[in-house]
Amino acid sequence: MTPVPDAVELIRAKRDGRALTGTEISWLISAYTDGAIADEQMSAMAMAIYFRGLDPAELRAWTAAMVSSGERLDLSGVPLPTVDKHSTGGVGDKVSLVLAPLVASCGAAVPHLSGRGLGHTGGTLDKLESIPGWRAMLPAAEMTAVLADTGCVICTAGPGLAPADRKLYALRDVTGTVESIPLIASSIMSKKIAEGTAALVLDVKVGSGAFMQQMADARELAQTMVRLGAEQGVRTIALLTGMDTPLGRAVGNAVEVAEAVAVLRGKGPPDLTEVTLALAREMLLLAGLDADPAAALADGRAMARYRRMIAAQGGDPDAPLPQAARTEVVTAEAAGFVHRLDARAVGVAAWRLGAGRARKEDPVSAAAGIICLAKPGERVERGQPVLELRGDHDGRFSRARAALAGAIEIAARPPAVRPSVLGRTGL
Ligand code: URA
Repeated sequence: MTPVPDAVELIRAKRDGRALTGTEISWLISAYTDGAIADEQMSAMAMAIYFRGLDPAELRAWTAAMVSSGERLDLSGVPLPTVDKHSTGGVGDKVSLVLAPLVASCGAAVPHLSGRGLGHTGGTLDKLESIPGWRAMLPAAEMTAVLADTGCVICTAGPGLAPADRKLYALRDVTGTVESIPLIASSIMSKKIAEGTAALVLDVKVGSGAFMQQMADARELAQTMVRLGAEQGVRTIALLTGMDTPLGRAVGNAVEVAEAVAVLRGKGPPDLTEVTLALAREMLLLAGLDADPAAALADGRAMARYRRMIAAQGGDPDAPLPQAARTEVVTAEAAGFVHRLDARAVGVAAWRLGAGRARKEDPVSAAAGIICLAKPGERVERGQPVLELRGDHDGRFSRARAALAGAIEIAARPPAVRPSVLGRTGL
């Protein structure tokens, strides 16, 4: 008879550098999901993995076990090629709001199951919830109906999807074990594999506002996720994109919806439009579609699809978005060119204004956020507003300002121009 694994033995094994077997891993994940392994034991295991890593065979087994901890959506009834995108998270990253309807308007189906923001990076669902009436929570049957009808859906992943990740991510968040490449890769990919998409484009952010601040780490994360996708039968590629400064000019919830709509009108900021189109081209390529997303933006097809998607989920695309009760500005301390506008600092400041949450139960403010009135490379005069802070409560502004100390650098010359897309990883 095969001996039943013991949690303490497995923790010791990983701590001491022994690779776990596939059987051990699948037992561990399933016992943790069922509550047979305590949070403190899984915390110790996560810390052991943080230090020791997982080899490719362990990571494959770990990811497969996380997928098997719940249901895998069956999208075989959708009569279009399915393709999704996942971003590792950034500041001002409202790409999904434009990308899902854009790619759908070019002939693919985009089942975008998304999350809420935690910490300084915002969540797509929080942003869309600033649209009056819009619903993030759809029963599985309604989700597939919206997808079949409009070609795209952005909604929350139900509790049945990768439940092991739901528990483990909450635990990692409070035990200092989020920043581990194998744990991040398996967490992201288990949810995307369970979502049932046939193809996936990853937007791996690199820079001060991202999980991965170094290019080498971002590349390793991208390669790891691309391999996991291929192993599980999901055609996957990754783009590496910059996150040293916010994407676009708006950071928050309603302000990001407004900026996404500007992109759909063909009047969006160039960096945001460029990243969105680069991701759209990769998605269409993976879906086997020969279509030009720039044309779909220019001729209004993407906008029409966005309006249909919002309305299908109860939202009124014409309703006015919530406005903040109060605004303040941060001005340039000298004349010159904005050399650096730090993404993390702006993200933390927007969060402190109320746009983000500290605990997952906290509400967010729809109206709070920041508008970057000047971005790196742009000229400013001394005293000219660089940031506009928006919030509902007076008490939040001083802490937001504190987060911005040292975030804006002005220099006599403009910084070197960096492309928004820094690299591509495929198999
Ligand atoms: N996003 C996830 O879904 N999981 C991680 O571990 C990190 C970011």
